Amino acid sequence: MLDAFDSHCHLDPEVFGGDEGVDAALERARAAGVRRFVAIGSGYGLASAERAVRVADRHPDVWASVGLHPHDAAVFDESAWLEVLALAAHPRVVALGEMGLDFHYDNSPREVQRTVFRRQIRDALRLRAPIIVHDRNSGGETLAILREEQAFEGAGVLWHCFSGDQAEAAAIVENGGFISIPGIVTFKKADEMKAVAAVVPADRLLVETDSPFLAPVPHRGRRNEPAYVVHTIAEVARLRGTAPEALASLTTDNARRFFGIA
Ligand SMILES: [Zn+2]
Repeated sequence: MLDAFDSHCHLDPEVFGGDEGVDAALERARAAGVRRFVAIGSGYGLASAERAVRVADRHPDVWASVGLHPHDAAVFDESAWLEVLALAAHPRVVALGEMGLDFHYDNSPREVQRTVFRRQIRDALRLRAPIIVHDRNSGGETLAILREEQAFEGAGVLWHCFSGDQAEAAAIVENGGFISIPGIVTFKKADEMKAVAAVVPADRLLVETDSPFLAPVPHRGRRNEPAYVVHTIAEVARLRGTAPEALASLTTDNARRFFGIA
């Protein structure tokens, strides 16, 4: 049996068919050997933070992160943000994010994305909270801002759903960051991601589903769920010439260290 950790899943009841749907998905994951989960409270507006904390509250093997996704940067509002930060004090909240820049979809104006990203980094540093980063097509700006804000001096930086090349991965690792590999690595044409997954240093590697998005093969195109992280683990293990059990233990150890989960 694996001992796997899904470091990044959105367990929004609205997507999974209510609390019962979320609980059923977690049950299927446990049966597959996924023993720990970080539910991301960012990405469905400010209210998603509260919903993620609620899931973590109901399950002893689920922790939460809270933040504001770059897609939602335009709805940033000081008093609503202070409510999200208040949730960060909850004992089940282990990180801030996901936060960052998304210049692929550009759902919020870039200047607003930059401002809201910097604000969250500063709050994370003040709270000594690990940071979960979302970066899509920012042309290196996400890393530049993290460096300018001295984010790597804080409690840790995790690059979720890493989709860059080997040089970008090396730069993140060099700065002290962690890299999380998503299910995309199972796609036939994901040559660059396969190459990255093979060479990320063993002490910086995590895996995730990013449920409900981007389901790995053989579930590609369907709704993703935490149980499917086992397919990502199998592929990354193959690429690194190791056994899935060993890769699961390694990435679980890294995730526990990063999030400070005993
Ligand atoms: Zn996400």
